[in-house]
Amino acid sequence: MIDHTTLQSIFTEIDLSAAPPQTEPERQYWFLKKSREYVTEEANRLGRPLTACTVTFGCQMNSRDSEKLAGILQEAGYTLTQSEEADFVIYNTCTVRDSANQRVYGRLGFLNSMKKKNPHKRIALCGCMMQEPSVVEKIKQSYGFVDLIFGTHNLFAFPELICRMFENRRMVIEVRTAEERIVEDLPVERKYPFKSGINIMFGCNNFCSYCIVPYVRGRERSRKPQEILSEIRHLSQDGVTEIMLLGQNVNSYGKNLDEPMSFAQLLSQAEQIPGIERIRFMTSHPKDLSPELIRVMRDSAKICRHLHLPLQSGSTRILREMNRRYTKEEYLALVDRIRDAIPDISLTTDLIVGFPGETAQDVEETIDVIRRAKFDNAFTFLYSRRTGTPAAAMENQIPKQEAQKHFDLVLAVVQETAKTQVARFLGQRQKALVEEVNGQNPAFVTGRLSHNIMVHFPGDPSLVGRIVEVKLTENHGFYFIGEKI
Ligand code: SF4
Repeated sequence: MIDHTTLQSIFTEIDLSAAPPQTEPERQYWFLKKSREYVTEEANRLGRPLTACTVTFGCQMNSRDSEKLAGILQEAGYTLTQSEEADFVIYNTCTVRDSANQRVYGRLGFLNSMKKKNPHKRIALCGCMMQEPSVVEKIKQSYGFVDLIFGTHNLFAFPELICRMFENRRMVIEVRTAEERIVEDLPVERKYPFKSGINIMFGCNNFCSYCIVPYVRGRERSRKPQEILSEIRHLSQDGVTEIMLLGQNVNSYGKNLDEPMSFAQLLSQAEQIPGIERIRFMTSHPKDLSPELIRVMRDSAKICRHLHLPLQSGSTRILREMNRRYTKEEYLALVDRIRDAIPDISLTTDLIVGFPGETAQDVEETIDVIRRAKFDNAFTFLYSRRTGTPAAAMENQIPKQEAQKHFDLVLAVVQETAKTQVARFLGQRQKALVEEVNGQNPAFVTGRLSHNIMVHFPGDPSLVGRIVEVKLTENHGFYFIGEKI
């Protein structure tokens, strides 16, 4: 991550009449300065600033990537906006479900109609969906108005790609199948001034049978701890108090570093950084969650009292088919160890209902785990057949109606358990980080507890970004109404 002032002083040293450097990130700084020239020229021609809008589909990793795209766009001279009427629209796509792909195709038609009215409009597509060759082929064939396509491995080269887009009339396509390098020190535009995600690793080695991520995001690569810690220090100096360490499987952080380091060790070091008051992380694979991590969480004053631990299914047989590499009993034993060490922890999970071959008995097993693990919340998904994954080729796909019936059963238990669980905080005093003015009632603000539960309470905009003490007065299931103390 690099700040605006440092970048400006780097720009003064860059000679655009010389060839671009071959090393990174210097090469991207050169192209960033060049793209600024292109943007300024076009803005002068039009007599107004050029606007850009990033639209994010999918997970927290994509949200963080979009902040990087936004940082680059801003330094390239674009004014950021939330409107897709912008001169440059970037869709950062997700491909976890086929339905996500369909949404992107649907919205592209709408962008095309806007482009017809604004011939200066440019459209870029990036993210996981672009790592699939069949998708890129379809866009080339049927969506010829798209200007730029790039994948997850070369997001760091966005400045260079912006320049190529300005220099070419034809669609620019640059999708790499692998990238070992992790390029540091590019600009980032954060959505919230007081909290930030930080990528600690990229890719996944697990190959859960329903998941496309290892195919589109590649194998696990960890960032060096000194780079991560320096980014956290920098964020803290910039006013960030809450950080979220991000990776598809944070519990296997550091295994592939030259000097291996565990995720728990990284957390312990992050905790030493002054100014950071809260640390979160996501996502944890149960099979890799170590006793060391539980100890570090237990002893920490900064690591939030929340753990997201995807279960997916409570049936050992289905877990085996999913290639999750733990059993129902091992998962429950892990939950017991966590609760013994940290009794007030909030546990949340992900569940998939309707996986190929799942029977009513398997669904009962899942319900049994929900009740015994006492989740504070669960993101429950209907299984979606993802082309390109082993599960999509399984013969025993479940009819939609049957899967929906099981889904409704599971959801009802999730809601009932969550309400009972969350009720344990009623009447307590808790600290909340105020994130925003409440969308429905401007006399209220919305804060997040360490346990990742939201609380709405009377307050004014000056509280946004502050950690305040709140009394939790009304339980509404997944959130509280409270009052500031
Ligand atoms: S752990 Fe499994 S579900 Fe998560 S990203 Fe990796 S393959 Fe996908």
